[in-house]
Order: sequence, then C-alpha cells, then structure tokens
Amino acid sequence: MTEAHGIVPQLLHRSLEQIVGQPLRAIFPIPRVEEFINGFRQVLASGVAREMEYPILFGTIDATWIWQRATPVAGTLVVDIRDLTAQRRAEVRQAAADQQFDILFKHSPLPIILHAPDGRITDANQAFATLVGDTRQSIETKRIQEFLDEPVGIPASGEPVRRLLTLADESRHPVVLHIDQLPHGYSLVAIRDVSANEELERVRTHSDLALRESEARFRSAFEQAGNGMALLSPAGQVIGVNLALASMLGYDLDAAHALTWRDVLHPDEHDSVAINLARVSRGEAESTRAERRGVHRDGSTVWMQVTVSGVRTGTGAPAHLLAHIEDITERKRLSAALRDSEEQLRLALTVTRDGIWDYRIPEGRSYTSPVFRTMLGYAPDLGFTQDDFIALVHPDDRQRVVDTQQRHITVPQMDPYDIEFRILRADGGYAWIRSRGQVVERDPRGQALRMIGTHSDVSERRILEEQFRQAQKMEAVGKLAGGVAHDFNNLLTTITATTELLMQDLRPDDPHRDDVLDIALAADRAKTLTRQLLSFSRQEVERLVVVELDAVVERVRPLLQRLVAAEQQLVVQATAPNAWVECDPGQFELALLNLVANARDAMPDGGAVTVRTDVVVLRPDDLLALPQLSPGRFVTVSVRDTGLGMSEEVQRHLFEPFFTTKPQGKGTGLGLAIIYGFIERMHGAVLVRSAPNEGSSFTLYLPAVAVPSVSRHDTPATTRAVSRGQERRVLIVDDEATLRRTTRRLLERKGYQVVEAGNADEAIAVLDAAPVGSIHIVLTDQAMPGRTGRQLVQEVSMRFPDIRSILMSGYTGDHAVRKALGGSDGETTFLPKPFTIDELTAALEA
Ligand code: ADP
Ligand code: MG
Repeated sequence: MTEAHGIVPQLLHRSLEQIVGQPLRAIFPIPRVEEFINGFRQVLASGVAREMEYPILFGTIDATWIWQRATPVAGTLVVDIRDLTAQRRAEVRQAAADQQFDILFKHSPLPIILHAPDGRITDANQAFATLVGDTRQSIETKRIQEFLDEPVGIPASGEPVRRLLTLADESRHPVVLHIDQLPHGYSLVAIRDVSANEELERVRTHSDLALRESEARFRSAFEQAGNGMALLSPAGQVIGVNLALASMLGYDLDAAHALTWRDVLHPDEHDSVAINLARVSRGEAESTRAERRGVHRDGSTVWMQVTVSGVRTGTGAPAHLLAHIEDITERKRLSAALRDSEEQLRLALTVTRDGIWDYRIPEGRSYTSPVFRTMLGYAPDLGFTQDDFIALVHPDDRQRVVDTQQRHITVPQMDPYDIEFRILRADGGYAWIRSRGQVVERDPRGQALRMIGTHSDVSERRILEEQFRQAQKMEAVGKLAGGVAHDFNNLLTTITATTELLMQDLRPDDPHRDDVLDIALAADRAKTLTRQLLSFSRQEVERLVVVELDAVVERVRPLLQRLVAAEQQLVVQATAPNAWVECDPGQFELALLNLVANARDAMPDGGAVTVRTDVVVLRPDDLLALPQLSPGRFVTVSVRDTGLGMSEEVQRHLFEPFFTTKPQGKGTGLGLAIIYGFIERMHGAVLVRSAPNEGSSFTLYLPAVAVPSVSRHDTPATTRAVSRGQERRVLIVDDEATLRRTTRRLLERKGYQVVEAGNADEAIAVLDAAPVGSIHIVLTDQAMPGRTGRQLVQEVSMRFPDIRSILMSGYTGDHAVRKALGGSDGETTFLPKPFTIDELTAALEA
C-alpha cells in the first residue's frame, strides 16, 4: 500500500506506519484475500472501476463490513472505502427479529393473527386454528370480524376488548383481544380464551347462590317444621325459635323469642340441660338427647324429647346449637298405658299362677317368666337351655314331651302342642304341668324359629283326678265285693246255722264232733272274710268300739302264730297297756292278719316278724311323713319283717286295690287296700318303711282315746233261756229258699212257730189272711226282688202296729236302713248276716 487516508487505519486497527509500504495480503485479514487481490489486478488490467463489499474479521469477535470502490488511476489503484458495519448489523438484526417473530408466531400457545389494513387475516397461527377449529388456509381468506359477535376497532384503542368468538362448530367462546399496531396499517391480534375463567367465575357465582338458597331453605324448614326447633348461641342464648315450638309451649312467635330456655323447662331440668349445652358447645359431644319436662304457658307439663346438636361452619367448636324438640306427652301417656296393660297381664298371670315360656329353637334356649320357676320352687332367672328343661321332666314323660314338641314344630296344624307332664320341683317332688304353646315364627324356608306358650301347674287337679280314679276303682271293687258277699253271707248263714244245729244234736263223745267244729271254725273265718270284703266296699256296718289295743293283739295272737311258717319266728311285743282306741275290733284283727300274712310271704327263706304296740305323741315336726294326721296322741301297732323288702315302684302302688306281685291264686291285692280304707276311716294313717332286701315295716296309727268309756264291746249276747218261743209265731220273708229253710229249722228248734213268704207282697198277703194276733214277729231280709225289706217293715208297722219287725241284711244300704229305722221306729231290730243262733234268738227276744 502506498498511501492511506481517512478511516483506513481505524478500520484496519493499525497505524499508518503499519499500513503504508506493506503488502495488502498482510494488512487485510479477510477470507479469500487472494480473490480480493486478483480483483484489484483485474481492475488495473481492465482499467474499469469496480465496487466490492466484504467483511473483515479481526479475531473472532466481530466483523467489520467494508464497502470499497477501486478505481484505476494512472497505473495505481485508488480505493475508496466506507464502513458499512452499522448498516449491515441493523439489517442482520432485522432479519433475526423477523425470524424470531415467525417462530413465536408459529409456535405460540396464544392464538395470534396478523391483520392486514384491508381487513383480511394475512396470517393466523396454529393455536388460533385450533381454537376456532379451522385450517390456517381457510382462515387466511377471512376477516377477523367474521369470527366476532361484535366488530373490533382496528387500529386498536390500546385496551383489550372482550368479545364472543364463534367457532367452527357454531359454539361461542368468550375471548379477550389484545390488538397491537404494526407498521403500514397492519395489526397483530393476540386472543386470550377466557371461557375457563368465566366458567370458574360462573360456578363461583352459582355456589354463592346455592349457599344463599340453602340458607333460605334452612330458614323455611326451621320456621315451618312440624317439630319444635330452636337455634341457640354457644352460650345458650336463644337466637330463634320456630312456630311449632312456640305453640307447643302455648306462646305466639314473638312472645317465644323473648324467652330463655330456663323459662320453658322445669327447674329440675335446668342443671342437666346446662351441662348438656356446654358439652355440645365445647365440642365434647356431637349431640345430646334427653327427655325433658317442659312447662306450658298454662303451667301444665309438656314432655319433650330434646336433641341438641352443634352447627359447624368449619372445623372447631360449633358456631350455633340447634335444638330439635318433639312433643312426646301423648307417647308418654300411651307408654304409661302400655305399662299398665303389661302390668295387668303380669298380674293376671300371677293370679292364674301360669308361667310363660319362650323357646328360641335354633339357640336351643328357653326364656321363662319368673312365675314358671317359682312355681317349681327354683330361683327365678332368665332362661335355661332346652336340655336343662328336658332333664327336669320326669323320665317316664320325657320322650313323650320331646316327641310332641318335635311333631308340633314339624307339622303344627296337625299336632297342637298341649301336653301334661311331670317336672322336677326344687324340693325333689314332681309337679304336674300343663304346657300349651305354638310356633310363632318361621324362617323363609319354613324352619321353626320360636315357640311361645304357657305352663300351668295342674298338680292339684291331677291329684284330685287320681283320687277320683281311686275312688271309682274302690267303688267298682266295692260293688263287686258287696255282690259276692251278699250271696256268700246267705250261704254262710246256712252253714253256721246248720253246724250249730248239728253240734246240738251230737253227743259229747261223738267222733264227728271235731269235724263239725272244724266246719264251724272255717265258716267263722269265711264270715270274717266276707265282713272284710264288705268293709272294704264300705257297705258293711262298722261297729265302733273302744278297745284296748294290746288286748286285741293278744286275742289274735294264736291266729297270727298259725299264719307264720315253721322257719319263721313271730315276736309279739304288746307294750302299750292302757292304750285305748275306738275302732271295729274285727277289722283291726283282720288288718293284723293281713300284715302278718304279707310278712310271711316276704320271707320265703325264713326270718322274723315282730308285732309291736306303742303310744306316741306326734308333734307338728313329725307330721312330714304323716301329713294326713294332726298332732296329738296316737296308738300304734307295727308289723316288721326281715324279708325281701320293696322297691320304690312297689311302694308307690302298694295300697291300690288289686295291686299284687304275687302269682295268680296267691295274692288278691286287696289286703293293704282294705287296711288303708279302714285306717283312714278311723282317722289314722299307715306308715311304710322298706327298701329292697332290707325288710319292711308297716305301722298303723290310730288316735288314742284317753278314757275308756263304758265298754260297748261287741261280745255276742249270751244265750238266754228261751221260754216264750213256743207261744210265738214268726213270719220269715226271704227270697232265698235255702236260707228260709235253715232259719225256719233254727227257730223251730228254739220253739217258735214259723210261716214263710218269698217276698214282701206274699208277706202282706200272709199277714192279711192270718187271724189278728196270730203272727207276732216279721223277720225279713232287706234285699229282695220287688219291695225291699225296709218297705215291708214300714207297711207292717203302719198296718199291724202290734207286730215286731226284724230286718236282716249283710250289705248295701244297711247302715242307712238301720239309721232310718232306728230314728223313726224303735221297734225295728237290725240283724246282720250271717248270724249265729244266739244272735238270732237275741234279736227275737230283744
Ligand atoms: P297281696 O298280698 O294279695 O299281694 P296286698 O295288698 O296285701 O296284696 O299287698 C300288695 C303287695 O305289696 C304285695 O303283692 C307285695 O308285693 C307288697 N307287699 C306287701 N307287704 C309286703 C311285705 N311285708 N314285704 C314285701 N312286700 C310286701
Ligand atoms: Mg296280702
């Protein structure tokens, strides 16, 4: 370089010295410097000036843009240089900005459009296309105003404007437009979709409304509720009450608002209400509920169910207390009425002494009313298992109870549950229970779930029934025995009378005397037997006599001795001298005979039987075993053996007529039944003690008679000499010809004259036909076909007052006959059959 001026040194960042005289290559740090130098050479060679632009790089920092024009001037080149850097930089920057804008425009999530001065959209970004749901190409043919509900002013005022943007699907979105002015009348429009915000806003506004609405609703519910309501401050001040509450208490609404809760609640409630309110307002309880006694304006009591709960607006203690008040006065009254009727039911059940049971079948448990348990003597409690219950049932009844129950549970309409059974009492005895019930609940498959019923104690009725059955049995036996005994007595009368006749005819040394004596003895025993039969049937006339018991025992001793077997020992301990009783001695003897006979039968392998008499004084405590007696003095006779003893089962049936464990022909089962009946009639009792293989003892208790009255001992009247017999004529009336004949022979032997009649009518006919005074005595049987002996006697005494009547009989109704006659007509004599000659003559002579 030969010369340099102006800005050259500055441009090249060198001093002039460093530039002038230096080759160009060294001075210009430019790319392709060879090209640059060649350019200069061409200008020189061609002589044509040339302009060039190029950047000069100094390091890497920046470029300096140079414009130069090389002009050849006389073999040298004059180069004019300008610095274009600033200009170029502006250009570059503009280009970059354009590029950035493009990128932003294209990729911005904000919908943007470029708006031309003619009103067309020249460019729209993807976000806008997406927002309106259209393609960019189609958008770029439209005007912005086409999308808006209302035109926007372009150029813009500078303020964002809100418009509704119509989308391709015709829906409208609220948007806010930010419009910016560009050069040459262009505008940039950025669009903010505010629909989401507005929705939010809308929701917010709406929920405000809702809250207001719910408040309104609450208020109307509060005011119009059928139940009473009150709103209280946490401190318990009344903020509001509703009409229902006001009228419940007899106030109008305004008056009610002036009240405090203390004004309307009974003073007794105040403390507990205050505590409850405090608990809820402190948040210790969500709510409280209680029955309260309110006071009506007129002073009457209003029962109220009061529920107080806290009203919270956020977390923490309630802002208000809401009291909900129900008038339960009527309910209270009803439940009191219900309690009354329950009480009535309970009382009714107590009075009837019926128990209730409630059997929950799947649980296998029964619940019983206390009465049921107390009925049996157990402590009353709630329930017990079915097994417990079944275990209480008498073993003999158990299966029947289980079966009946089961059948009812399975087929209730066929098998009603109504059953009587025995159940164990606490005292060890059994009570008869009648249990009636019904299944009251079933599951959907028909399985029984629950059964309810009653229990009644029917023991008393059962005992009565049992006694009645026993009495009926006795009656039947009695009739039978009476019938047999009647015929028997007739036969015996013949036998005894005939043997007596025989004996009188036999010489003292006659070899047949003993035989006849045996017949007489046997007849005597048979006579006792028929008397016993009749006594058992209570048809025999009892001859009550005061006797000394030891004397009777001693008298019967030889008979007892004859009863026992050789290998058996009889011990008689008559140790109660001066112990007197009033009884029929014949029956008493019979009882002893029976007891000893039983003892004999119980000792097949030998042993001892002890008969012993005693006097005892029974005190109330002693009567447990002898409940039929009253305290006092008793004479006892016991028969104790060392035999086989008896099981409990045998002891239970011992006194039943016809109960026997002996083989047929040996036992009749009547012995103890007769004893029982006899002792009972004597106001005594029989005590049995026995156990298997431990022997038995039977003790007869008879009330002691303090002082033996004048002896009415029934020893037959001794035979008196008969002298007047010959002058007397007797009419015998009896339907039994044999008996008539025997009696006739007896009487004739005694010197009487005899006429006979077969029945009452015949007898009357005989009397009518006979001359007056020719018949002195009528001896008639009681039981006859046609009119009875008694009826005959009555007619005779009326029509023939001079004729004496004697009524013979061995059975039914004799007692009544004797009583009736004895009461109305002392003339009639009674003669029990069978009779001896002595007895007969005694009656005739009486
Ligand atoms: P019978 O002697 O005809 O059988 P009872 O009425 O006298 O009739 O007695 C009834 C039953 O009582 C007897 O069959 C016997 O089983 C029982 N019994 C009575 N006394 C005794 C006794 N002393 N020892 C054992 N068993 C007795
Ligand atoms: Mg017997």
